[in-house]
Amino acid sequence: MPKRILLIEDEPGLVLTLTDRLEGEGYEVESRTDGESGVERALAGGVDLILLDIGLPKKSGFEVCRRVREAGSQAPILMLTARGQIVDKVVGLKTGADDYVTKPFDMMELLARIEALLRRASAPAAAMQETVKFGDIEVDTRKAQVRRGGEPVPMSMREYELLKYLVAHRGRVVSRDELLREVWGYEPSVASRTVDTHVGWLRQKLESDAAEPQWIVTVRGVGYRFDG
Ligand code: CA
Repeated sequence: MPKRILLIEDEPGLVLTLTDRLEGEGYEVESRTDGESGVERALAGGVDLILLDIGLPKKSGFEVCRRVREAGSQAPILMLTARGQIVDKVVGLKTGADDYVTKPFDMMELLARIEALLRRASAPAAAMQETVKFGDIEVDTRKAQVRRGGEPVPMSMREYELLKYLVAHRGRVVSRDELLREVWGYEPSVASRTVDTHVGWLRQKLESDAAEPQWIVTVRGVGYRFDG
């Protein structure tokens, strides 16, 4: 069955282009041009992914996002943000968006992000395999062990938990706040810099070049994305 994408965007030219292209890729596309009817359509169900503009009449994309999440919808939300609006990205991810692309976006990039989100959404949450491999690295979740080229990589429990979380959410931007909440459980003494420090350690252990990371990629102003 084709996946249905709900496009909430008020710019007619973009609605036309996106609808055309997405339908060409085999998706079913429904569009709404303001935030209010967008929320309504999203909550009516049967939507596999929401493509959401931020600047919308009646309700902003942030508000749409919040409302949809509050109502319990788990549909992946991909936000369309304006170039250089890092604040938008941060707020977007905080309100429950899964990822974003920056306007004007590259169509291939957008399609790849859509595909990644749909793939992740259709895999059951607990379905992380016992062993996950990327490059010469192996994460064995049964033994809570990481190997590189067959050799165990020593790491702290926290580093391991951080890596496991990133890997389990591969292809998605994960904010520092989310990592603090999910991996550190918001211990009051933990600063968001701690996340960066731990990521740095993981990179030194896992990346061929920690300065040019291939697996744990920085998403400027937001957080990290595991690209394995
Ligand atoms: Ca707009």
